[in-house]
Amino acid sequence: MDALRKRNMTMEDSSCVLCGEVDETVEHMFISCGFTSTIWALISMWCKIPSIFAFTIKDLLDLHDHVGGPEWKRAAIQGIIRIGCWCIWRARNDYKFNNKEIKVEGIMRDIKALGFFWFNTRYKRNVVRWEDWRSFVIL
Ligand SMILES: [Zn+2]
Repeated sequence: MDALRKRNMTMEDSSCVLCGEVDETVEHMFISCGFTSTIWALISMWCKIPSIFAFTIKDLLDLHDHVGGPEWKRAAIQGIIRIGCWCIWRARNDYKFNNKEIKVEGIMRDIKALGFFWFNTRYKRNVVRWEDWRSFVIL
């Protein structure tokens, strides 16, 4: 909404689609929105990493460099964060344009499922079973 407003598009409502509390900017939607913060908190618990704190989109996208651990874990975190952004964006648009209800559980389910397919396609040498991916136990 912020990007459209900067291009002189007029909108009735430019508030965040996810929380409705402030104007929707990229940084708000992917970092500081309360709804998004819940997603990141659930991802940090699922992936067993410290709480996700970011001030910029770059911080968020570079987060995997700071989680430590083996390369596969950092690669998985990198993919999961990007897939998380995609799923948040898709849920936002589904609500905005199709009036589809936004649910944290649905977004988390999508992130885990898409992440599972992405990881097994990307890292064919280390195929992961769904049971292990769901609890983020990858050897
Ligand atoms: Zn918001």
